[in-house]
Amino acid sequence: MNDSTEPQELPCGFIALVGRPNVGKSTLLNRLIGQKVSIVSRRPQTPRHRILGIHHREDAQLVYVDTPGLHTRTPRAMNRHLNRTAAKVLEDVDVVVFVVEGTRWTEDDNFVLEKLRSVRCPVVVAVNKVDKLKRKDDLLPHLQWLSEQFDFVDIVPISATRGTQIDALEAVLIKQLPLSPPLFPDDQITDRSERFMAAELVREQLTRALGQELPYASSVQVEAFEREGRLLRIAALIWVERPGQRTIVIGRDGAQLKRIGQSAREAMERLFGCRVYLQLWVKVRAGWSDDERALQSLGYFEE
Ligand code: GDP
Repeated sequence: MNDSTEPQELPCGFIALVGRPNVGKSTLLNRLIGQKVSIVSRRPQTPRHRILGIHHREDAQLVYVDTPGLHTRTPRAMNRHLNRTAAKVLEDVDVVVFVVEGTRWTEDDNFVLEKLRSVRCPVVVAVNKVDKLKRKDDLLPHLQWLSEQFDFVDIVPISATRGTQIDALEAVLIKQLPLSPPLFPDDQITDRSERFMAAELVREQLTRALGQELPYASSVQVEAFEREGRLLRIAALIWVERPGQRTIVIGRDGAQLKRIGQSAREAMERLFGCRVYLQLWVKVRAGWSDDERALQSLGYFEE
């Protein structure tokens, strides 16, 4: 019998998702932490990392943390920051998920893998976007090849957008976590997660409205997230790379953007359980990777 005064021990720990830009880390994270978001004002503390989200399960607690500096080899602004933090970024996580994209392997993937060679904790590979594979037969040999590149504890093919094999990936992660009493109360989730979720909801509506037309390099950045009594005021920027893409997102007389905003606002109201006032802007940014401020708000930097 359990002694009720002793907190029960569960697999609990910190997990980092790493991978080059666009492999699907945000989409995967969104899947992994689920849609349960509660509004709290305090931020849970972790020794070094900012928490992106927590998945509270009956049988485990998975805490996803930010790992700035590990995702890209972009020079200039990014690099300066990278040198300051890369060395200690993964010091106290329990497991790393290296996210890659189908059978595509680029220099940027290699760059991330090289960083992982100095990591002491287990590394799991999530081979994402398998739904997009044109030649399914290429997958097995690629998994074999991946397994020869590094001593990964497991390799799990997934599709973050479709939710395929996410449970299998989570089961693999749980196996790697140390046992301890829960690290956080089960209603705790960060302020950052709410902002993240808000950005994801805008992005989801963008994808829904524009599908193939969606500018590949677009991203959503939440500029303001303020509570006024029972009202949430959220302002978000949709970044695109070219003026023509801006025109597409805005639509004739702003109709497209209005529809996107309306659906995103309704989804936010359901998620946050309160009224939401949402403002959206579309901005064009050329060469954004040179701008520290932009990098910071896209989540690559620590505060
Ligand atoms: P990040 O830069 O690594 O965080 O990548 P994102 O999560 O922003 O995803 C980049 C793009 O890949 C987005 O357009 C996603 O919708 C898309 N994506 C992510 N996961 C999948 C997947 O499993 N299948 C497909 N087909 N697309 C995906």
